[in-house]
Amino acid sequence: MSDTTSAGRYGVIGNPIKHSRSPEIHEQFARQCGIALSYERILAPEDGFAAAVGEFFADGKGLNVTLPFKEQAFELAAKRLTRRARMAGAVNTLWMKDGELHGCNTDGVGLCSDLRRLGHDPADMRILLIGAGGASRGVVFPLLEAGCELLHVINRTSSKAHDLREHVVALEPDASRRLSAGGLDDHSGDWDIVINATSASLQQTLPELPDARYRKNSLAYDMFYAGEPTAFMLAAERAGADQVMDGLGMLVGQAAASFAIWHGVEPEVEPVLAALRSQVGQV
Ligand code: NDP
Repeated sequence: MSDTTSAGRYGVIGNPIKHSRSPEIHEQFARQCGIALSYERILAPEDGFAAAVGEFFADGKGLNVTLPFKEQAFELAAKRLTRRARMAGAVNTLWMKDGELHGCNTDGVGLCSDLRRLGHDPADMRILLIGAGGASRGVVFPLLEAGCELLHVINRTSSKAHDLREHVVALEPDASRRLSAGGLDDHSGDWDIVINATSASLQQTLPELPDARYRKNSLAYDMFYAGEPTAFMLAAERAGADQVMDGLGMLVGQAAASFAIWHGVEPEVEPVLAALRSQVGQV
């Protein structure tokens, strides 16, 4: 049996972390690409993230970061951030190069690749993004980069949507024409793609999310994933969305982008997504 640890130690760090699917995803990518690695779940204490990262990189090669540490990872890698990480203000992928910690955010790339996989390339689309938390921050710039016609971000706390817009426009002034913000009621017009980036689907209660007006050939996308359609997906179907989907493909897509950063190889998403879907359940 090969010594995978010596070939490369990788992991995902968060709190809680038991639920993370990242180890099985990265292990499948590694098998696909003939790369030997170990990939572990690391539970960091809420006040011990920096120490846990320091310990890991004594011999580790790459770390994925999940809740609640993405902003702290951004601070830790502040000297070596990709543009996507700066735009997001959060980091989900860390690696060590030339003795320095580097950080990127691959959530948005994962979302865009999943939208394309589903036949809804964001280019020239009118997109409504609901939510202005960490997940939303990670996808705004990649959606703009992908060439959408308009990206309108709405949030229950409308000031957070406006702050998000200001942050992105300050770094990318050209975005001002295509990026707008408002409260949950502020979504007049019709949309090609509506994305639920709130944590409402995590709760058992009916989410306070608006019904949008859907264009022809439209998609309603819930970043949350589960074995059955979420309340958002069911409401979107009733409101006229042509296709509804959960965020499992985004999860595999962001992992594929991290894998490519670490190993320099683009793994195939489809077979890994199919295997995961059979475990999680059908949408
Ligand atoms: P955050 O806690 O950072 O943000 C939560 C957001 O949800 C805020 O905008 C909040 O609004 C809003 N919200 C919460 N409850 C409601 C409600 N009942 N009605 C309306 N708005 C509500 O969470 P994240 O951004 O990190 O995660 C959001 C979702 O994205 C989660 O479901 C998560 O599982 C999913 N996700 C999926 C990924 C994937 O790869 N598929 C990757 C990352 C996240 P307010 O500001 O007013 O409180």
